[in-house]
Amino acid sequence: MPKTRRLKLSAGHSVTIMENNRPIAKQPDRGVIVGTHVEGDLNNRVLSLVSLQLIYWGVPYTKDPKENVLSDSIAFFRKIIEPQDIAIEIHFNSGGGNGTEVIIPANPSKYERKWGEIMSATIAETLQIRDRGVKCEKTLGRRLGWMRIPCENFLPEICFLDNPENMKQYNIYKTSLPIRLAKLFRQMKED
Ligand SMILES: [Zn+2]
Repeated sequence: MPKTRRLKLSAGHSVTIMENNRPIAKQPDRGVIVGTHVEGDLNNRVLSLVSLQLIYWGVPYTKDPKENVLSDSIAFFRKIIEPQDIAIEIHFNSGGGNGTEVIIPANPSKYERKWGEIMSATIAETLQIRDRGVKCEKTLGRRLGWMRIPCENFLPEICFLDNPENMKQYNIYKTSLPIRLAKLFRQMKED
């Protein structure tokens, strides 16, 4: 009988909690800001809605404390993680591209490759934008802290926040996307 896979969820660049108009985190990190689009806020919004759906279905998950910077999040998860667990950190992309992609570690497991591809296809299909598929960390030319958590790792880049067409599609489907993602995460737990 295989061990239960537990879900560990995080929103990238989401250190945006304010108290008396000041961020309570050590280092505020809101990600890329283009016009009115703030990556950290978008990541938070998607994850909040995914979480509500998971709660509604009674699917257990763990979210890291919101005031955590990335290094704190990684330390938090490293303490509680087991190899079969699933760690997913939501991001939006930027830099002039088009479509959805999912980053997985440099030497991905079969599980990471399979579900990374399904995750990218699911987001692209929901938003009706280009599916860029999975990208291994090594092809990016940099190491990502998130990939250092010893379990099954996924970093979905929902779409490009600096691409007006992508954001138009996101806005049309922003309520169905989190439900679709929650459904996918539930399926991943059962595989
Ligand atoms: Zn990001």
